[in-house]
Amino acid sequence: MVKYCPRCGSANIEWVLPQTWSKWRCKDCGYIGAFIIEDGKLADEVRKEWLKKHQKK
Ligand SMILES: [Zn+2]
Repeated sequence: MVKYCPRCGSANIEWVLPQTWSKWRCKDCGYIGAFIIEDGKLADEVRKEWLKKHQKK
């Protein structure tokens, strides 16, 4: 199953440490935490909001 960052919606996340697999780190935004998204549709929404907020015009 694909997992997504709850802050920016990126699928580019990894375990902080393989031993402590309950914690994740997002390589895109630096998020670290136990909570991740497994719903692709929700991740899409999060991603859109994140890009809207962080895109430089
Ligand atoms: Zn992220």
